[in-house]
Amino acid sequence: MSDILIKDVSLASGVRTDLGIHATRFVDTASLVQPVVINASGLMALPGLVDLHTHLREPSPQPAETISSGTLAAAKGGFTAVFAMANTDPVTDTASAVRNLRTLAADAHAEVIPVGAITRGLQGREVSEIEAMNDEGVNFFSDDGFCVMDASIMREALLRVGYSGGVVAQHSQDHNIAGPCACVPDGVEVPPLAEEDTTWHRVAEASIIARDVQLAMDTGTHLHICHISTAEAVDVVRWAKEKGAPVTAEVTPHHLLLGSELVGSLDTRFKVNPPLRNDEDRHALRLALADGTIDVVGTDHAPHLPSDKEKPFPQAKPGMVGLEWALGVVIETMINTGLMDWVTLAKRTSHTPARIGKISYCQGRPLAISERATFTLIDLTRRAIVDKDLALTQGRNNPYHGLDLPDPVLATFWEGRPTYASFLFES
Ligand SMILES: [Zn+2]
Repeated sequence: MSDILIKDVSLASGVRTDLGIHATRFVDTASLVQPVVINASGLMALPGLVDLHTHLREPSPQPAETISSGTLAAAKGGFTAVFAMANTDPVTDTASAVRNLRTLAADAHAEVIPVGAITRGLQGREVSEIEAMNDEGVNFFSDDGFCVMDASIMREALLRVGYSGGVVAQHSQDHNIAGPCACVPDGVEVPPLAEEDTTWHRVAEASIIARDVQLAMDTGTHLHICHISTAEAVDVVRWAKEKGAPVTAEVTPHHLLLGSELVGSLDTRFKVNPPLRNDEDRHALRLALADGTIDVVGTDHAPHLPSDKEKPFPQAKPGMVGLEWALGVVIETMINTGLMDWVTLAKRTSHTPARIGKISYCQGRPLAISERATFTLIDLTRRAIVDKDLALTQGRNNPYHGLDLPDPVLATFWEGRPTYASFLFES
């Protein structure tokens, strides 16, 4: 491929520079040979986004997404790496399932990092083949979709994962308090939906996090808390960090932007787990992401088949798509509100998730000579009305459909290769 010269681009720091790309890396612009020139005046280059929380749905007998469509959506959203959650069919709970996923992802449009299940079949009863998966390079383990409810199983998982320096990522939900029908956030009035309790009682989140930070301190293993959603959960994480607990936390774009009042419509686009929360929660989440109590944005991109969403609210599957709009939502909620600067945004969406996921040797790197050219080029002035049917994800369960949001991503490069907007280079 031709050398590329990106002229007069802004970095997150505000510094304006020229970026030269030869093959997979940034090089001194003086060494470029007949480069393709991109005039990037007014544009910004950010390190490629890294998502610790993606549901790519493949393998599965009837997938709602493929690795190809999911990673195309990722590239369109500015992502160069996604961690593929283990709740596929079969579950990623063995070394062979990890190898199979890597084979399926060989032609992906972003780096796909397998997440290993904490427990066999996500059943919560027996810790999975942690060591065998670790031998295959897996460092990040999660039963996401389910909480590891048994504290002794969680402790064993932390001990075994910690032995290799890995991370346990918990979907924090006490299923005895917020059970199988839990889908409506506290404080939202809806007609009776089912015989069982449909309220997702908010204490089910913070109570598990409080337990798990104790287990993390006891074992010394890195605990990552997925999709934190309540102000009380933020308080627990803040306390844990003050104590020096090895804990990190994540928030989704949808919990930053969307409020629980949307659930009152019983439109299943707004059914997600944990549910959308109230104004005070959203405010607390934004402040916590700004001050670093929450370390990263994770999308929880969760495409579903229409047939799984076109159901009564309690029976519809929880989850929303997110990869293509994540950066726009973070800009809208954090930059456009003055809560965060671009350097911090790059940390929360790229440098820190790469470090937590232990891929910071190849992702979330500075945009500097001799580094891999893995970045996204964005236009801060672009906005668009979200249209679910123009998306690259196959999922149409889109909570942003119809909203006016920043639409910043012009092009994404993964190790020098354009994975989105490659039309820029057609002659
Ligand atoms: Zn989850």
